[in-house]
Amino acid sequence: MKRILVTGGAGFIGTHLCERLLNEGNDVICLDNFFTGSKDNIRHLIGNKNFELVRHDVIKEYYAEVDQIYNLACPASPVHYQYNPIKTVKTSVMGVINMLGLAKRCKARILQASTSEVYGDPKVHPQVESYWGNVNPIGIRSCYDEGKRCAETLMMDYYRQNKVDIRIARIFNTYGPKMAVNDGRVVSNFIIQALRNEPITVYGDGNQTRAFCYVSDLVDGLIKLMNNDKKFIGPVNLGNPSEFKIIDFAKLIIKLTNSNSEIVFEPLPSDDPIQREPDITIAKTVLDWVPTVNIENGLIKTIEYFSRIIA
Ligand code: NAD
Ligand code: UDP
Repeated sequence: MKRILVTGGAGFIGTHLCERLLNEGNDVICLDNFFTGSKDNIRHLIGNKNFELVRHDVIKEYYAEVDQIYNLACPASPVHYQYNPIKTVKTSVMGVINMLGLAKRCKARILQASTSEVYGDPKVHPQVESYWGNVNPIGIRSCYDEGKRCAETLMMDYYRQNKVDIRIARIFNTYGPKMAVNDGRVVSNFIIQALRNEPITVYGDGNQTRAFCYVSDLVDGLIKLMNNDKKFIGPVNLGNPSEFKIIDFAKLIIKLTNSNSEIVFEPLPSDDPIQREPDITIAKTVLDWVPTVNIENGLIKTIEYFSRIIA
């Protein structure tokens, strides 16, 4: 049994991760400030003797004795990370410094939830880990993109300077049950709009692309990366390489929900990346990981979830 700290454990991905780690027989501390996460997500875990819930903000130091740390604490939806951009930078940068300090003291292994946003509006497609990215340092997405880039820098510097045992996951768009209704990202927005027969809001002309990974696949990848002992240091892309134009994605959701919604076009937010698709060669070769849930099956499960909670 390992003692595992999951920061951001009451959020969308964190909830699924806590569940999996508990099912695998671990002792789990879920730390969250409930900015975008919710107690409802993890209510069913409260009472499990191996589960501990801590209300705490990662920008403040935290002390515990643990073997592994998954650092997920950070709002991930553009709407939420732009709500208080200064806090977003603090969460990414001060949060990872605090967690790296904890990892150093406990000699724990630490995994940082980084993001495909470190590639910005990429000029290399699909994105490989060796690509340095094309990020606007002063735009409205910069609080998140640059915060996450600085977090990667700190991970590498704690590894080089203090020999902290690090793992960096560059997560691409992930979806599934337990996304918040007010999350604001494309999957939950489109599904909720379609289920309510309200207009589907496509930003821009809808020709921008994203590739969507079902949350159970992503959690498999995170756990494999954390427990990989092959001495691979450096970022690893985790995502599903099936790329969609957003307009086609809207049509797919309308089909799967059997909805009467029409598509409406709204302005594209600034710095919205034009294309995104992971190259997952490293994850395949180093972790023996590939996503297994196809988009229709993943969306059907997600649609079932939202049908239940917005009924
Ligand atoms: P989410 O917003 O659902 O979860 C984030 C969690 O972190 C929430 O529970 C929130 O309350 C908590 N949190 C935020 N700031 C905090 C703070 N200062 N102290 C303590 N807790 C705090 O987002 P998610 O989709 O579950 O994303 C989890 C992580 O994965 C994030 O770090 C995100 O950047 C990363 N990521 C997610 C995706 C994706 O598509 N879901 C893609 C790339 C990266
Ligand atoms: N998007 C959209 N309509 C919405 C929400 C998002 O067209 O209601 C677009 C958004 O402009 C982006 C893509 O969908 O091009 C993915 O957006 P999301 O916020 O999910 O995440 P991102 O990958 O941009 O961080």
